[in-house]
Amino acid sequence: VIEQINALKPHERFCSFEFFPPKTDAGFRNLLARLHRMMALNPLFLSITWGAGGSTSEKSLDLAATCQKELGVTTVLHLTCTNTNKEVIDHALRKAKEANIRNILALRGDPPRTEEYWTPNCDFKNAVDLVRYIKEQYGDYFCIGVAGYAEGHADGADTSEQDPAKDIPYLEEKVKAGADFIITQLFFDVDKFVAYESMLQQNPILKKAVLIPGLMPITTFKVFVRATKLSHALVPPQILERVAAPGNDDDMVKAIGIDIVSDMIEQVHTRTEGRIRGYHFYTLNLEKSVASIVEKSPVLNATSLQQGVDHDDAIDSDSD
Ligand code: FAD
Repeated sequence: VIEQINALKPHERFCSFEFFPPKTDAGFRNLLARLHRMMALNPLFLSITWGAGGSTSEKSLDLAATCQKELGVTTVLHLTCTNTNKEVIDHALRKAKEANIRNILALRGDPPRTEEYWTPNCDFKNAVDLVRYIKEQYGDYFCIGVAGYAEGHADGADTSEQDPAKDIPYLEEKVKAGADFIITQLFFDVDKFVAYESMLQQNPILKKAVLIPGLMPITTFKVFVRATKLSHALVPPQILERVAAPGNDDDMVKAIGIDIVSDMIEQVHTRTEGRIRGYHFYTLNLEKSVASIVEKSPVLNATSLQQGVDHDDAIDSDSD
């Protein structure tokens, strides 16, 4: 990932897409067809999520290997390190290498939902431990990314301690241990992201890592409310009003969502003076909104990465 970002021309901006592994074989086949279509949008990389505690390990590895080998696209495998054991991590890293995957998003993972009191188990306590372990075991074979939180990280429902400045020393540790890029949690408050980017820019260690904002297209009001709640993302009142206005008219919500996220990209680009090189989409395995945003965004369309996109082809057979 980092080599490809560094190879971009100064005016070029990239997009990248996150997917999760479907539960069934039919779902996998459908997603694969969708991924083939979405390659027309020319993402710089795809990232594949890892279920809590390794619960989707084989399916994640399978999807990531398929993306890397079959689609020939740079693939980032997410890997969480708590509530699991070293064998699962070793197996995942070995399989990733066998599939020619060169990028890992090293994460801590979340507490299991059923446990009221959570003590991160044994080998790895925080994401930094995984970054160090990967470096120890594989040297520079893997390019490593980590998570960042423009609004501060919060565990569970307790948001009282949420403060991005508090995470900074730990983010520094992750970068010092070898992380090259940081993908942020989804956000809708551009002010928060701009302030975060500025804080990282002023930090001699963190400014060396590539910061990639994470954006979630808005598909339905229900999903929007659930996702922002789960990720503790503040929703500016003017955005909430716009998304809530059409009620259950999902098509309208989607259309408004496309405008909102496209506008966020413009704002981020301008207000960070073009320092942001790319935009990561939490696709929720859907295609239509992402395709429209990528196509609509002058920032992303200014890049020569957007070659040969046939918009109709990209979204015609979409059922999301
Ligand atoms: P860490 O970097 O370990 O940070 C967790 C918390 O601990 C923070 O509050 C931090 O400030 C604090 N901290 C860090 N280091 C220390 C230390 N040494 N001492 C004390 N405190 C410390 N989850 C999944 O299960 N699967 C996925 O595929 C997945 N993908 C994600 C992708 C992105 C881009 C993002 C942003 C999140 C993703 N998550 C995923 C969620 C992630 O696992 C959770 O947000 C988790 O709660 C924190 O992970 P982290 O890697 O940020 O943890």
